[in-house]
Amino acid sequence: MSSLELTKSKTLDISIVIPVYNERENLILLDKKITKSIKPLNKKYEVILVDDGSIDGSVDLIRKLKNENPCLRLIRFDRNYGQTAAFSAGFSKARGNIIVTMDADLQNDPADIPLLLEKINEYDVVCGWRYKRNDPWVKKLSSRIANAVRNTLSEESIADTGCSLKAFRRKCFQNIKLYNGMHRFFPTLMKMEGFSVTQVKVGHYPRVHGYSKYNISNRLFASFKDLLAIRWMKKRQIKYDIIEED
Ligand code: UDP
Ligand code: MG
Repeated sequence: MSSLELTKSKTLDISIVIPVYNERENLILLDKKITKSIKPLNKKYEVILVDDGSIDGSVDLIRKLKNENPCLRLIRFDRNYGQTAAFSAGFSKARGNIIVTMDADLQNDPADIPLLLEKINEYDVVCGWRYKRNDPWVKKLSSRIANAVRNTLSEESIADTGCSLKAFRRKCFQNIKLYNGMHRFFPTLMKMEGFSVTQVKVGHYPRVHGYSKYNISNRLFASFKDLLAIRWMKKRQIKYDIIEED
């Protein structure tokens, strides 16, 4: 089967879903690195690049890369809607039994994807844990505080919920309704749905090209409000055991 036929078949082994917002300078290497990491696994896969309203020529480049790599797919928004919306659109179109998520800026290394895939045989969700962060100190510190606050308030034990590099079994997204900002809480949401979640250590690299889309005001404060919503949902979750039914 040619790789084109592979990508057209109905069910694939893996869908890699990647939100892209002004990441033109990272896309060629991203495509190369994913191919290098996934091809040797001999799996049927697709890479869904969800363009979240880029204005830097990312879309033209994705179209060009698609001509050379039939595993690539493009979903393009009419404007910027945010990372959770981009993930959500990618999930709704994904044909893989396993869905891998990651960033487009190469702060995650596609070479780590096989590590996640190995673990997904035992768990429903495998979260990457950037145990050595390569970010400016302000971001490292704010992320450490955010993780601690998040874990305390949501009674969670995930070391690094903000790492985009994750693998999910397809069924994880069947019943879940996503809201803006919720991509930061996938592990908690998945546990609430009864799925098993684990974490594996992955690499983390400085952003070489492009710019970070987040700062203290649009991440820390926004995600704190989201955290309160998650905490409320967790506390109010309906749980019961039926002991008799006629
Ligand atoms: N991103 C997106 N829409 C947004 C903001 C970010 O699709 O509104 C994408 C971005 O292109 C990247 C990923 O989400 O692939 C993570 O963004 P970024 O690297 O800026 O976040 P940071 O690493 O600084 O937390
Ligand atoms: Mg980044």
